[in-house]
Amino acid sequence: MEKKIFIKTFGCQMNEYDSNRIYDSVKKLGFLKSNDQEKVDCYVLNTCHIRDKAKEKVYHEIGRVKKLYKQKAKPIMIVAGCVAQAENEEMFKREPYIDIVIGPQSYHKINDILKKFVNNQKQEETDFDTVNKFNYFERVENKNSSVSAFITIQEGCDKFCHFCVVPYTRGPECSRPFNQIINEVEKLIENGAKEIVLLGQNVNAYSYMESSKEYRISNLINKLESYSELKRIRYTTSHPRDMTDDLIDCYSTSKKLMPFVHLPIQSGSNKILKLMNRKHTVETYIDIYERLKKINSAIEFSSDFIISYPGESEDDFNDTLDLVKKIRFINSFSFIFSPRPGTKAANLNLIDKEISKERLLKIQEHLSKNQLRMNESLINKSIDVLVENKIDGQSKLFGRNMYMNSVIFNGEIKNIGKELKIKIDKVNKNSLFGEIEKKNNKRAA
Ligand code: SF4
Repeated sequence: MEKKIFIKTFGCQMNEYDSNRIYDSVKKLGFLKSNDQEKVDCYVLNTCHIRDKAKEKVYHEIGRVKKLYKQKAKPIMIVAGCVAQAENEEMFKREPYIDIVIGPQSYHKINDILKKFVNNQKQEETDFDTVNKFNYFERVENKNSSVSAFITIQEGCDKFCHFCVVPYTRGPECSRPFNQIINEVEKLIENGAKEIVLLGQNVNAYSYMESSKEYRISNLINKLESYSELKRIRYTTSHPRDMTDDLIDCYSTSKKLMPFVHLPIQSGSNKILKLMNRKHTVETYIDIYERLKKINSAIEFSSDFIISYPGESEDDFNDTLDLVKKIRFINSFSFIFSPRPGTKAANLNLIDKEISKERLLKIQEHLSKNQLRMNESLINKSIDVLVENKIDGQSKLFGRNMYMNSVIFNGEIKNIGKELKIKIDKVNKNSLFGEIEKKNNKRAA
């Protein structure tokens, strides 16, 4: 009999990718994806451990599900993702409503776990078994056929920044076989993908050895370049230390690699970078920026910033502010430091809350200014937009420019999947608005 499954996904694109692969996998057992979270047989929370109070948020979510199903048959309750990995069987003690706890590197076992789930026998699976996960998902077709499709090429991290849980929740760096990725990319293109986003916790550390040859992310980008149906290539998230020459060269050789680099720096002070164990300096970061700008002046950077990391003085903070003014980052993320249990920075002395809030406001003000300045510079210009979707309930379409900004304009659904020239007439900080440029898009409407 047909059963329904709903997955609520938190956090990064890698979790979104994983959720889609779980849907693909459990289909074999007759579980069909549902968007109605109130009437399912299996409810999955795919969790994220990056933000503050992640664990508490998961228990809160389960409380909500319990209320939804108070008068109905209980769904199989699965907690997946990084909180599951970090908390493992402890979760059953705190919340008996949970039936299955499964870490991100064990998703290839999900069908077996569900099959065994009889007599409400609770199961926990949190091994770091990345190679088998990759091999399993190679055999399950990726049905994620959106215009912009994600594909995980690498998981885990060996860098051990002192504030971060990823090395503990996703395990050591592990790269997928080159040909496995290419096979999946070809399927995605056949299913209509026009943009491929290569994903990894340290995506530019991708390194796969076969017959004494090392395949790097630059090899993947060069291969993707050769598919005529593919219009755009992106990758995220990268580490400054892995911005090697071959990857930088791709920005001169590839026409499809978008001129938008999301490269987290976290702080503009070398003292703080050292305390964070980031393994790069502000100078090496600026050097990467300048080399890329020299190749293509249209390249723009975005970044992540941790404000008020323990030990950050006013001078350190001002160094970060200076860097934001120099590089003019767009589309960036900034947060006040909050400790993650189990990390080296978990028990450090925190900076005063009011000072931290002031610093965050200041940096966000500058980042917003950069963003608005960038968007305003596009007014009255025609820009390339990859059309991704229709906006629900409206006759408008949604797409993205090369810097990942949303662009909204009137148009027909036949344009989904096309790259169109859109003349921008209005902007705000988050979105651009315009009309299809008639003379350049004669067949578009
Ligand atoms: S490099 Fe990124 S994923 Fe790895 S520990 Fe540092 S912040 Fe976390």
